[in-house]
Amino acid sequence: MSRFTPLVAAVTTLLLGACASTAPSSSAAVGAVQVDVPAIAHPAGETPQWWYRSGAARAASTGAMDGKAKNVILFLGDGMSLTTVAAARIFEGQRNGRPGEENLLSWEQFPATAFSKTYNTDSQTPDSAGTMTAITTGVKTHMGAIGVSAGTRNDCADSLNKGLLTWLQLADSAGMATGVVSTARLTHATPAATYAHSPERNWENDTDVPEEAKAAGCRDIAQQLLSTSRFGRGPLVALGGGRGEFTTVEERDPEYDDKVGQRLDGRSLVTEWQQAHPQGAYVWNAKQLQAASKAPAILGLFEPDHMRYEAERKDDPAGEPSLAELTQAAIANLSRHQEGYVLMVEGARIDHANHSGNAYRALTDTVAMSDAVRAAVEATSDQDTLIIVTADHSHTLNFVGYPARGNPILGKVKDKGGEDGAGKLDLARDGLGLPYTTLTYANGPGYTGATNQQPVGPKQYPHNPSSFDPSTGRPDLTAVDTEHPDYMQEALVPAKSESHGGEDVGIWARGPGSKAVRGTMEQNAIYHMIVQATPRLRQRLCDAGTCDAKGVPVELPKPTAFERQAGDSK
Ligand SMILES: [Zn+2]
Repeated sequence: MSRFTPLVAAVTTLLLGACASTAPSSSAAVGAVQVDVPAIAHPAGETPQWWYRSGAARAASTGAMDGKAKNVILFLGDGMSLTTVAAARIFEGQRNGRPGEENLLSWEQFPATAFSKTYNTDSQTPDSAGTMTAITTGVKTHMGAIGVSAGTRNDCADSLNKGLLTWLQLADSAGMATGVVSTARLTHATPAATYAHSPERNWENDTDVPEEAKAAGCRDIAQQLLSTSRFGRGPLVALGGGRGEFTTVEERDPEYDDKVGQRLDGRSLVTEWQQAHPQGAYVWNAKQLQAASKAPAILGLFEPDHMRYEAERKDDPAGEPSLAELTQAAIANLSRHQEGYVLMVEGARIDHANHSGNAYRALTDTVAMSDAVRAAVEATSDQDTLIIVTADHSHTLNFVGYPARGNPILGKVKDKGGEDGAGKLDLARDGLGLPYTTLTYANGPGYTGATNQQPVGPKQYPHNPSSFDPSTGRPDLTAVDTEHPDYMQEALVPAKSESHGGEDVGIWARGPGSKAVRGTMEQNAIYHMIVQATPRLRQRLCDAGTCDAKGVPVELPKPTAFERQAGDSK
């Protein structure tokens, strides 16, 4: 040990000289910059400023300030628990004819990994709005909050002075190109938290916003997608679902004859977007998206509601692009901008499938996101593009029993007698002598008692019951095909919708600044990883006077300070 000390000391001195920061403690990482955070009482002392500063300190302490990213892509697997990742990796491996366990999803090959603590300020187990706001603004907030700091959900007046700057808006303000991609409605919680400010995630179009909230000054989320251009050009690429949120009840849907838009305020936001982007392309199917690749701006709304599950995409009448195709289109378009770009891509429906208690759709959508991340890796360089992959929160999917190597991940457990067993491979039996599956849910509509929709026994997707009868025991799965795409895994606790889980999710990263992604961190530190590792974002924050003497953005930025001034060129 002692004979290495001089070399370590010499290296440390060199590095300190190079980055000219004040001396970090001897155990600090290379490139670490120290930010002091006041000790507070929890939760009373958790002000937005405290969240911001503590997140900044966390990112700086592992070297995010060393990053030199030109571009940033954040992939968000909604509800992509670590169990979902493990099961999806095996699912993909088995689909390719292998045992599966040895497989890695695309982001699992990234060099940097960390854990993210996901709780909201008011909830141990969080929702997508509060968690994504933590990721996009550096500040943890309440369940249901979109781009505003902690307050009262559903209370517009309370939220008005709580607007937070997102890194998408920051990038726009710094002259970078920006993009948002999601398989959910573009107004749904995760994409909304990149561009909107609302105390209530459900205020997606004008008919969702109570009159009282409108009178107090709150606006629906869909119209905020357009008004976010006050920071710069607004998102140059916005691709997802949710056509109905952007069109009026007088407008017939282009894809489905029997559908119209949802807005009652007479505003066709698609038309308004087209007027604001005369050279831009509005598209609603895969073919149009391909043809629009070189347009200066693209708005793509591929379904009136959420886009389809990957498993059902082939059924789309007009042809729906895959998440990988959406990602490729966004990167091809945004990467033409020499000033760099930021892009958020959401694999949204992993969450929805888990809520519905159907592992097949959750896993196929997770594999689709892996394809999208691989497409991004192939279209970018790790020399200038930081890619972060994470989830907003977990779910209650369980991976149980002692299935033998290569056992179908959606199948019934086959083992050699469990942990202590040395018998021959056979169906594992529970204490009642009944077989069971490797994957189950802790709660949800897969409960096997009778419901008002389906009889007692295993449930079939789709299953949206409003009432349950108690179950008298487990069903016999011997003759049930649990690998069928519509099989619903058994759920222990009956619930109309399977719930989120409260444990940590993963963060995986590659590219400049990614080495700072390690250890266990609060979710809001992800924002700080991004802004600290991207000189252009960092500089814009420092220009607004939010940085400390070492150049670390530590003060909560005021969104108005980043808006375009009258006379700025667009
Ligand atoms: Zn959810």
